[in-house]
Amino acid sequence: MKKQFAVIGLGRFGASVAKTLYQMGHDVLAVDNCEAKVQELTGRVTQAIQADAHNEEVLKSLGIRNFDTVVVAIGTDIQANILVTVMLKEQGVRCIVAKAQNELHGKVLAKVGADKVVYPERDMGVRLAHNLVSTNLLDQIQLSPEYSILEVVATPRIGNQTLGKLNLRAKYGINVLALKNGDQVTVSPGADAAIHPDDIMVVLGTKKGIENLMKVIQ
Ligand code: ATP
Repeated sequence: MKKQFAVIGLGRFGASVAKTLYQMGHDVLAVDNCEAKVQELTGRVTQAIQADAHNEEVLKSLGIRNFDTVVVAIGTDIQANILVTVMLKEQGVRCIVAKAQNELHGKVLAKVGADKVVYPERDMGVRLAHNLVSTNLLDQIQLSPEYSILEVVATPRIGNQTLGKLNLRAKYGINVLALKNGDQVTVSPGADAAIHPDDIMVVLGTKKGIENLMKVIQ
């Protein structure tokens, strides 16, 4: 379903979010106070507007409260980033996603009403480090400090067994969400699903459980 997004701050992160949402078929209003940044996105989003978001009247005139989600991607100017988040909250925006520079900044954003706080640089660094150390790990999404979803390649050590035999849930508290063998994808595989070496497993588990699983499949 087509959704209405607004992205405030068109640095590398904000511009990338805005362009991707637009390419995915959604309506995207992109806002920046820098003319050049707005020019760069013109024609690549639904509407690109030069405006200072650090101004309540400007936000009102953009009809910001009518958007499904507003992304605050102002970076270095932490004060503007927080104040814009506060104003969006006050104007009744349903879902605010704000980019934080560090943990403390993130805590403040959550306190003032951001529904989701993202740390793109930190998360990309963590992802890259994991990928560099483990060749079996294809991707990772951290859902919370405790839970993650991982995409891992099955090695011969765990391949050629059924999920029931592997018993990952009882041993490591790991749930297998999907299995991919070539082009064939099995969603929510049952106990009799067989895992072959080089199959891709999408698993959900706790930090500890995933650490233990990775030790076994290396
Ligand atoms: P990135 O890493 O995504 O490139 P950054 O973290 O370095 O960005 P900045 O470049 O400081 O972040 O900010 C992102 C964008 O936000 C900039 O293009 C800047 O012009 C814009 N911006 C800053 N303050 C405001 C404001 N009050 N209203 C609208 N846009 C703003």
